[in-house]
Amino acid sequence: MQCPQLFKYRAIDRLPEPPSAAALKGTLVHGVLELMFDLPAVDRTLDNVMELVEEAWDALLADDPSLLDVAVPGGNSSPEDVLAWLNEARPLIHAYFRLEDPRRLEPEGREVEVRTEIPSGLVLRGFVDRLDIAPDGAIRIVDYKTGKAPKPAYEGKALFQMRFYALVVWRIRGEIPKMLQLLYLGSGDIVRYEPTEDELLATERTIVALHETIERAIALDEWPTKTSRLCDWCAHKAICPAFSQ
Ligand code: SF4
Repeated sequence: MQCPQLFKYRAIDRLPEPPSAAALKGTLVHGVLELMFDLPAVDRTLDNVMELVEEAWDALLADDPSLLDVAVPGGNSSPEDVLAWLNEARPLIHAYFRLEDPRRLEPEGREVEVRTEIPSGLVLRGFVDRLDIAPDGAIRIVDYKTGKAPKPAYEGKALFQMRFYALVVWRIRGEIPKMLQLLYLGSGDIVRYEPTEDELLATERTIVALHETIERAIALDEWPTKTSRLCDWCAHKAICPAFSQ
């Protein structure tokens, strides 16, 4: 939806994209918030959760030692450099605690893979940061964003993502999630939506139409460029036809 040419680079050509320090910080904070719920509820205090930052970082490095150079570029990072970088994640944890009290939550799932096949035969899948089920059975989908809340005019992308998850969870569980909740840790905001059946059916139609557009693009090998301010963050700008003349 953002740019067909970018979709081709990512999903068809599978060109690698260098990880950014900002994205890595987001992954680290997601890791901390996931580990947090392994603690007994009473122990989920700010101080205890802050101690999980290094544990989450060690787990990331164990999976991929090259991430050290993403966090502290240059190849000869000192322990102080790493600590300074880890400290940049701490304000986001503080922001989380201003939004929620995790001692009062017992999520049904964290980093849950959701997957379903819709009637068109298309398989939809994704990862939900957190799934909460209330005592009355109401479903809440929670997504953590480490950036700032967008202005209302730019909320569409996050809203589409949340409706996508809601559609998949609805198809799996047979019940429409009651609440979609975005926690923007960069600005300390909570955005909540209550999806309706009509909205989710419209989301499904959009996805089906998008799939048909992609199939057509593959058949014709036509991938238009769609330039925007986001091009400045595109990893493939150097080879993009929109910028090569
Ligand atoms: S630079 Fe812009 S137009 Fe080109 S692929 Fe990236 S997002 Fe699309």
